[in-house]
Amino acid sequence: MSIKVVNVSKTYKNQTAVNALSFEINKGEIVGFLGPNGAGKSTTMKMLMGYICPTEGELFICGTKVLSDKNTTNKNIGYLPEHNPLYKEMFVKEYLGFVAQIHGVDKHQVELVIKQTGLTPEASKKIHQLSKGYQQRVGLAAALIHNPEVLILDEPTTGLDPNQLIEIRELIKEIGKKKTVLFSTHIMQEVEAVCDRVIIINNGDLKVDAKLSELKAGQLQTIQVTFDFKIEEQFVSRIKELKSYNNYHDNDWEFVFDTEEDKRSDIFDFAQEQGLKILQMNTKNKTLEALFKEVTQ
Ligand code: ADP
Ligand code: MG
Repeated sequence: MSIKVVNVSKTYKNQTAVNALSFEINKGEIVGFLGPNGAGKSTTMKMLMGYICPTEGELFICGTKVLSDKNTTNKNIGYLPEHNPLYKEMFVKEYLGFVAQIHGVDKHQVELVIKQTGLTPEASKKIHQLSKGYQQRVGLAAALIHNPEVLILDEPTTGLDPNQLIEIRELIKEIGKKKTVLFSTHIMQEVEAVCDRVIIINNGDLKVDAKLSELKAGQLQTIQVTFDFKIEEQFVSRIKELKSYNNYHDNDWEFVFDTEEDKRSDIFDFAQEQGLKILQMNTKNKTLEALFKEVTQ
């Protein structure tokens, strides 16, 4: 067990930030820690790091109780804090060398993490000269420098442009092949893109803890289609296994199926039979987002 959180609560003065939270994360899992702003994500992560004490409950990293043995916890865990604080006047290599020194690890680790996070072309620049995406890589490299088993990443993609976002997600996925990763976000699609499992919290309460495959299995398939002509409803009902439909605009339809099998080819066949052309077609993962809304509103 890489991470174990047992009945943990945190109260600031009289405000409860985390409320009787429990979960376990196995070695090698990539888990999305999802919740709106103020849900308690950063507070939970800081408790896992041992930066703040829980008001109640216990936390364990690789079997060691956090705060009971700071050295062992520090060895096993790497952390990218929410706003990625970096010494921006330092050169990338220089900064990572400094972090290596703090952890008491060999300098050759610097070269290793530079390679691992794709920083090689930027390694001789000052950190402030790098794009936000590359600065994020420096933060990730720093978190990885002592080769910990567990990585805690607090909103690692916030503030990135769409290309950087995809690159950082890919990098997290790659890193996650060898490590246990808990990363927080408030974006459901992000969890779908990167994780095996999702933990959703709201107002400090655990709302969902499930494998994405389990959530998807119980999910309705929604396909939006635009045809080139208007069609009568009676024809639409010929589409096999159709659960419901909605003609939400002239030639725009939404079809809902209760199956995991991809129904787009059936819709294509239907259009052909009817002598229609498809101008646009896409599938929507309606229920995962709906689920997030449902538990967080
Ligand atoms: P998230 O990371 O999910 O956005 P946080 O863990 O930062 O949420 O915050 C959870 C709640 O605890 C919020 O309501 C926030 O205002 C409160 N909070 C966080 N840190 C402190 C603090 N140091 N003192 C008082 N309240 C805090
Ligand atoms: Mg936060």
